[in-house]
Amino acid sequence: MKSQGPSSPAILSGPSPLGSPSSKLVFSSNSDFHVELRRRVDEFFRSTGRRKRDCPQMYVKTAILFAAFMVSYVLLVFVVDTWWQALLLAMVVGLATATIGLNVQHDGGHQAFSNHARVNAVMAMTLDMIGASSYLWRWKHGILHHTYVNITGHDHDIDIGGLGRLSPHQRRLRFHGWQHWYLWPLYGIMVVRWQLVGDFREIVTGRIGTHRFPRPKGWDFVIFVAGKLTFLALAFGIPLLVHGPWVVLVYYGVVEIVLGLLLSVVFLLAHCVEQADFPLPSKETGRVENAWAIHQVEASVDFARRSRVAAWLLGGLNFQIEHHLFPRICHTNYPAISTLVEDTCREYGVRYREHASIWAGVVSHFRWLRQMGLPPATSLLEE
Ligand SMILES: [Zn+2]
Repeated sequence: MKSQGPSSPAILSGPSPLGSPSSKLVFSSNSDFHVELRRRVDEFFRSTGRRKRDCPQMYVKTAILFAAFMVSYVLLVFVVDTWWQALLLAMVVGLATATIGLNVQHDGGHQAFSNHARVNAVMAMTLDMIGASSYLWRWKHGILHHTYVNITGHDHDIDIGGLGRLSPHQRRLRFHGWQHWYLWPLYGIMVVRWQLVGDFREIVTGRIGTHRFPRPKGWDFVIFVAGKLTFLALAFGIPLLVHGPWVVLVYYGVVEIVLGLLLSVVFLLAHCVEQADFPLPSKETGRVENAWAIHQVEASVDFARRSRVAAWLLGGLNFQIEHHLFPRICHTNYPAISTLVEDTCREYGVRYREHASIWAGVVSHFRWLRQMGLPPATSLLEE
């Protein structure tokens, strides 16, 4: 019997979508840990009366984040008239956009915002407003990343093309030796690539990396087109009514660099650090050695668990282990269940890893990049 992650069948309706190698990838069948952990978490919600979804604080937070975005956007485009005020406000717009993505869109996309599918769908669509396709996100993040996290060739989120080497199983190129320096500014412009190039290419080719996926049809296609048009209007159309093209381009760049840097760093601190595992399936059987839930824990690393500010701003994604185990639980619950998850991991001999602060995670990611860029003979992995 194969052990399957909950995000894959939960997100899609219809037949298995992946006409790709990942459809053959199965995990070990030992699911005792997962069964017991789910029982304990369910018992926690029963005994405390907390809601898994439709949490009031999530609705309040959504209103605050949207208000922050709208106020800062209007001030940036229509009110401020000095370059330094515009620069500061562009950074605030980038921050507000990132928090909408990390909190609202991410929970909606995982169907963790509400018990009502339509509420989740609307929240997920905020990604289209930011400029990236929520349809593609469902495949790339919801399915490929969440089912096959840190498995090279299957998890699209750890593949940044030849630009960098994030996994020990990716090909090393000579210039990766400097990637711990040059990748940081590139993280900032990755969002621009999704917005203006990558999404269109993937929709046209019907491929995400080596994985085929069905192109959007009907409402999915309408949302894709309407989302791109909304984004283009917000980023360029409306600002061009009151400013010159170079001014619009410069401040668009500032917003997207802040957005890209924040989104990338939150993701990379959780998976591309020294403490995370990067297993490969057996060549003979195609099977991953660990059960699905154990794999999720050991390929993820929490950070800054004691920081309420980090948890609030980052959509609970500093609790990445809890998120990967329970993607359909609203992130506002992650701090409350994290001790329970950690204790259960310890009991079952599953490695639960964390960094005490965001900074410790950043340092670990820097060191991981440096290690991945070293030639094989000097790689710390080989020692
Ligand atoms: Zn996720």
